[in-house]
Amino acid sequence: MNTSPTISELRVKFVAGTYTPLDAYRDARAIIDANNVDINAYLEVFDDAEESAKAATERYAKEGERAPALLGMPIAVKNNMLVKGKRATAGSKILENYIATYDATVIARLKEAGAVIMGATNMDEFAMGSSGESSAYGITKNPLDRTRVPGGSSSGSAAALALGGIVAAVGTDTGGSVRQPAAFCGLVGVKPTYGTASRYGLVAMGSSLDQAGAFARTVADAALVQGIMNGKDINDGTTIDENTFRVVSKKDTYTIGVPMKLLDGVDADVRTSFEAKIEALKAAGNTVVDVDLPLFEKGLAAYYIVMPAEVSSNLARYDGIRYGKKVVGKDLLDSYMKTRAEGFGAEVKRRILLGTYVLSSGYYDAFYGKAEAARDVMRKELATTFETVDAILTPTSPIPAWKFGEKSKDPLSMYLADVFTVPVNLTGVPAMSVPAGTVTREESNLPVGIQIICPHAGEDRMYDIGTKIESL
Ligand code: GLN
Repeated sequence: MNTSPTISELRVKFVAGTYTPLDAYRDARAIIDANNVDINAYLEVFDDAEESAKAATERYAKEGERAPALLGMPIAVKNNMLVKGKRATAGSKILENYIATYDATVIARLKEAGAVIMGATNMDEFAMGSSGESSAYGITKNPLDRTRVPGGSSSGSAAALALGGIVAAVGTDTGGSVRQPAAFCGLVGVKPTYGTASRYGLVAMGSSLDQAGAFARTVADAALVQGIMNGKDINDGTTIDENTFRVVSKKDTYTIGVPMKLLDGVDADVRTSFEAKIEALKAAGNTVVDVDLPLFEKGLAAYYIVMPAEVSSNLARYDGIRYGKKVVGKDLLDSYMKTRAEGFGAEVKRRILLGTYVLSSGYYDAFYGKAEAARDVMRKELATTFETVDAILTPTSPIPAWKFGEKSKDPLSMYLADVFTVPVNLTGVPAMSVPAGTVTREESNLPVGIQIICPHAGEDRMYDIGTKIESL
């Protein structure tokens, strides 16, 4: 049994019939049953996964190579993505008993491609956090060092894949929530161009930033799963046809921009492993140039205005009346207040307060308007930079996985760790994290990730550079 199979490995065996989707399901299930009590990656393991695995096994016998690309592939899904008939908690008590009445478009697409949805994964409450510690359902441990966080907010998806058995996982990325946990767990993680994957059926956090992204063990697998999720959707007016803007520019060697100034704040060991990859890229014939991105650093400031503003309006719907938890008070207002006071955790409340403040009369122009304007200038800065470089590379996170409790008492210190990922969501461009070696902390080898940022709709190039880095 191989506990860390890739999609391409399994596909060969499934087609040949030497190892079946049912075998894969049973092996994955054994790993989950033995470890999940401690790791807490899955909030629920779906009882109908075995049936899907059986059906997939029969289908391979009939269809062989003609079977859809993900047939029988065990995949885990972040619990803010609706799976029809299953609980969708978004890691919050307020949605404790909420059962999805339909499949999110990206989930429907994965099912159609034959994926076996193994279960729903734990996450920071409403996808707010970088460590998995803000879930109402307990922390998720990093399988590579159980004393450390797996990253977040897609904490359970990353941990579930790092644990083994499944071949991919999916999550959402609003400010780094796929890329950063991928980096902390030694995986590949994708944030596609804004609008390439439908948001229909995802529990909204910041609607102008949210995208569904794939986790996998290899760039090829991540590109495959992401490609299946992507596509125009009439239920999400912001979706674009991938081919409309596609940057078709795969090359043998690339000109790569590295914002050297921004590396000053990076942990010395993380920097060393990042620079080792950069040197290897140069040795392989790529050109590396220093790029000045003065606005990139300002991304965090803009993100912590735009994101909470969108959060405060998106989360207004959890009022105890329409769906979700309801606490009855002495009158309607009291019911709203009690429902929200009991239903939301501290991090969610903090962001709702912040968002309501920046949108309030008199402050809207001073904060929200300015942050949106800054976003525009950031887009221009990136577009100009991409006139001279094919891609921009940064570490995915300035630090490796930290210990539980290290940052949860100081929210700002946790926010700062997202410095490299949030500008990508603010500007809408695609980016991915690819494993870039390890650093040693207290005898643990902790993975670090390298982030590849490409121009709008430049996914083909991004995957190509990712594959090159993978093989260095
Ligand atoms: N860590 C970031 C935050 O807390 C990003 C979250 C996300 O991408 N969902 O907002």
